[in-house]
Amino acid sequence: MARVFNFSAGPAVLPEEVLREAAAEMLDYRGTGMSVMEMSHRSRPFQEIIETAESDLRELMGIPDNYKVLFLQGGASQQFAMIPMNLMKNRVADYIITGQWAKKAWQEAQKYGKANAVASSADKTFTYIPDCSDLPISENADYVYICENNTIYGTKFHELPNTKGKPLVADVSSCFLSEPVDVSRYGMIYGGVQKNIGPAGVVIVIIRDDLITEDVLPGTPTMLQYKIHADNGSLYNTPPAYGIYICGKVFQWLKARGGLEAMKQYNEQKAKILYDFLDESKLFHGTVVKKDRSLMNVPFVTGDKELDAGFVREAEAAGFVNLKGHRTVGGMRASIYNAMPIEGVEKLVAFMAEFEKNNG
Ligand SMILES: *Cc1c(COP(=O)(O)O)cnc(C)c1O
Repeated sequence: MARVFNFSAGPAVLPEEVLREAAAEMLDYRGTGMSVMEMSHRSRPFQEIIETAESDLRELMGIPDNYKVLFLQGGASQQFAMIPMNLMKNRVADYIITGQWAKKAWQEAQKYGKANAVASSADKTFTYIPDCSDLPISENADYVYICENNTIYGTKFHELPNTKGKPLVADVSSCFLSEPVDVSRYGMIYGGVQKNIGPAGVVIVIIRDDLITEDVLPGTPTMLQYKIHADNGSLYNTPPAYGIYICGKVFQWLKARGGLEAMKQYNEQKAKILYDFLDESKLFHGTVVKKDRSLMNVPFVTGDKELDAGFVREAEAAGFVNLKGHRTVGGMRASIYNAMPIEGVEKLVAFMAEFEKNNG
């Protein structure tokens, strides 16, 4: 068995310890004689799995009691509609457009009301985060929306926008649990888990109590109402049970590694190795403004499309896979999520240095 260094943006690398544990429990989950996949979601063992997952997540992120944690389906993209359907009471919301995912969310919201783009970095192909300290926030905006870490472009909000008192809604799909957060500064935090936490099919929503109401837009399907899922402890219907089980294991893995402060330090250490190399290299360079760099997704280019393609090919042959940049950006992108070991980054940089020597 040979594991590669998987730099995919998502679905992405998971901790090897978690995969081994899941494999060991595959046929007989703790004496039940069945896999978690085969288990009733209303059974005692599954109740314990989902309750432990929630309480571990609450502990890791320091989630205040007045926030609900929901384990939902439909990916992050389903939230692009679910958010306006549930939160757009005045049918007005302000969006900050820092990349494709924010743009898609903004476009979807336009189906339900007036979605204003109050800031954007489209003018420089999303290579920076706009100044959001004094935006023209709409007086009657129901919320302000950001994509906190831009998976495709490799930028991150290192400072949250000044929402002038409006609830902040953040898509954290690609930076979930990568560093500590102050949940109380958000109205809602959500993310698809397949980037940094678990298998595709689960989306986690952390939402403040007062934003969960029956007063949703007319026609909102039952399955798309936060209140239904909140009132039923994420068990209104069959949840993505196996995915939640794996998420729970990742939460335990994170706790055992010292929690989010320790994760942040580790992620900074990893990212620094790669960014320092890119800053020194004569062949490779990073594509985003330094102060807005993401710790999780690192895009880079040589400036020559053929050389880029050659690098991706040779890297793959050497066991560094999924380094091709997003189809809309080109070049390369190394996603270095929580589960990417530092060794993977060190070896990648050594490989890049060697490639540079041979192609300089
Ligand atoms: C991957 C990603 C999405 C889309 O996730 P799906 O689960 O495929 O819908 C949305 N937002 C961000 C920031 C992402 O990285």
